[in-house]
Amino acid sequence: MIADNLLKIEQEIQDSCALVHRDPKEVTLIAVTKSVDSATAEKLIKSGIKNCAENRVDKLLQKKQDLLKYPDVKWHLIGNLQRRKVKLIINEIDCFHALDSLKLAEEIQKRVNQSLDCFVEVNVSGEESKHGISPEELLPFVESLAALTKINIVGLMTMAPKDASVQQIRKVFRTLKELRDLVQMKKFSHAPCTELSMGMSQDFQLAIEEGATFIRVGTALFKDEEEQ
Ligand SMILES: *Cc1c(COP(=O)(O)O)cnc(C)c1O
Repeated sequence: MIADNLLKIEQEIQDSCALVHRDPKEVTLIAVTKSVDSATAEKLIKSGIKNCAENRVDKLLQKKQDLLKYPDVKWHLIGNLQRRKVKLIINEIDCFHALDSLKLAEEIQKRVNQSLDCFVEVNVSGEESKHGISPEELLPFVESLAALTKINIVGLMTMAPKDASVQQIRKVFRTLKELRDLVQMKKFSHAPCTELSMGMSQDFQLAIEEGATFIRVGTALFKDEEEQ
């Protein structure tokens, strides 16, 4: 089942890329394993997945521990991170997708051993329930990180609004890309900002059409599998 789902998604990635003349190699599929157990995540890895993500610190640590025999898998933390949990997780991950405050960045700088790839989470849709910094605050925020030598801003991340129309979702993704281009043009050495982390099971095709380089897909991979 999982192998079939993965094949189907890989085909959809190729189709979306073809539609807008992009090279599928530009798009990295991150498997979001938060709704399944480690055995199910292992099936994915055996089917070829090389990037896994969790949105909670404790669950990521558990899965990583259970799957130690796959040292090549990269682990992404995609959810909100509390400052007090930074020291537990920060040297266990390859990438953090939800940087949204200077205080959090300072704690990461203090606790991390090596330089860490981070995405700044932007609340493009403006929903109050969402994490992330506002588009207006983005440039000053990125500038404020310049002295934090271990934080490497590789790109921007966003979540599309729930129950929105295709046009609304597309507009959010397009805006994130414009913001990415804006930061990239500044040529900050601490913020190359070349990547876009956007698109989930419901909307990854739209996200690819709008320029996503990392898509975060959960439920679509696990259709017809037992969920936890
Ligand atoms: C759960 C989650 C996803 C994956 O969502 P699906 O709809 O299951 O594909 C992607 N990004 C974040 C931040 C998530 O929390």
